[in-house]
Amino acid sequence: MDVEVELFTSEKSGRGLKAKRNLNPGSTVLSSEPYAYLLSKKQKGVYCDFCFKKQDGLLQCSGCKYMKYCNRNCQKMAWNEHHKAECAALKNVMPKRPPDFVILLGRLLWNMQHSNSAKLPEKNSILDLESNYNKLSQDQKEALMNFLVILHKFWSPKPLPSQVKDNKMLLELCARIKNNSFAICNEELQSDVGTGVYLNCSFINHSCEPNCVAEFNMRTLKIRAVKNIAAGEEVLISYVDLFAPSFERQQELMSIYRFQCTCNSCNAKTDDDQMMQDFDGKMTESKLSSVKDTLSQMEELRKQSDYQKIKVLVEGCVKRKILPHENIYMAKVLDFGMDACIELGILTQAFEFGSMALFSYKLYLHANHPMLGIQLMKLGKILLHEEKNQDAMQFLREAFKILAITHSPNSSVLTELQNLLGQCSAEMQNLENSLD
Ligand SMILES: [Zn+2]
Ligand SMILES: [Zn+2]
Ligand SMILES: [Zn+2]
Repeated sequence: MDVEVELFTSEKSGRGLKAKRNLNPGSTVLSSEPYAYLLSKKQKGVYCDFCFKKQDGLLQCSGCKYMKYCNRNCQKMAWNEHHKAECAALKNVMPKRPPDFVILLGRLLWNMQHSNSAKLPEKNSILDLESNYNKLSQDQKEALMNFLVILHKFWSPKPLPSQVKDNKMLLELCARIKNNSFAICNEELQSDVGTGVYLNCSFINHSCEPNCVAEFNMRTLKIRAVKNIAAGEEVLISYVDLFAPSFERQQELMSIYRFQCTCNSCNAKTDDDQMMQDFDGKMTESKLSSVKDTLSQMEELRKQSDYQKIKVLVEGCVKRKILPHENIYMAKVLDFGMDACIELGILTQAFEFGSMALFSYKLYLHANHPMLGIQLMKLGKILLHEEKNQDAMQFLREAFKILAITHSPNSSVLTELQNLLGQCSAEMQNLENSLD
């Protein structure tokens, strides 16, 4: 284990990690490479399958014609690390493609078979992680069994690693992956780039009031402190999106991780009433489901890059005053509006939508939440494009205060932010000089 944290066991939450010394906001608590990982199907051709770099014109593997890499070097490293056997297996089932989960499982089994101490930087084994298999619903168990049927077709005739003795153990391994994998997001926090199993980081327990956040730099996971953590205090991250009322967080935690969160925020249902606020009291169930429909409609439109339609939908919601700004679903709607208008180059309107959403971000997220930093940065960038330099500077500085804590100095987000700050102060200087 790293020097900053150590493993401990408590009656309440089982195993967890606690700080060995006092940690400040911005400290890296833990850094980890994935034990097994996979780029998600919908991002194929956008990011390199090996290093997760975003690039146009990726090279396709000539064997399976499925994996795509940013250069020969990544292709070679992937081949040696996990792709050799996988490529043959993928070729065997062509033109069918196994589900992502099955490919990830195949890689994990391959790593178990072939990992020696050199391949495994961390001392823990995948079998040390919690599986919660017995807590799964019948449907969930059946879904895992279906994956195994596909796995046996896809991965045969390769033998299983010696640690996995029978199908029951294999099922438990699947449950372990489901229970412990991280959604790998890009630095702008879209959470659908890929999935990774990170051994050490999996011991970190959940809280809706976490003192740490996860940062992904391509496929490397860093756990960074966002609050002061005292020596001996437990290190906690959130497994779910915190921009949601407690019942939604609880639903997600129960369905995926099979536990009930008992953090202060869940117990007190902090902010729930305000998050669900309508103009005249709490929003009704029917209004909730109708705004959720609108959100999934916009999600679909975003996949099709139909930003014009998203813009029209958001304008409609604002004009009809469907919900007040502080309502969390309205903030999500406005966010779609901001991103769509940025894509369409309609910056004044993008700022209008984005700053309305910012109001809720500030209301519900903790002061160092990365989503808040990213939102401030987007708004600062818009202001800079519109040559409102003084306002831009204020937003960008506010963004920097947060993102310097949540992101590594060499991350592309911080590099871009520093460039924007430099550009902004240069333009302010130019203006001053021209006035002289
Ligand atoms: Zn690459
Ligand atoms: Zn291949
Ligand atoms: Zn909670």
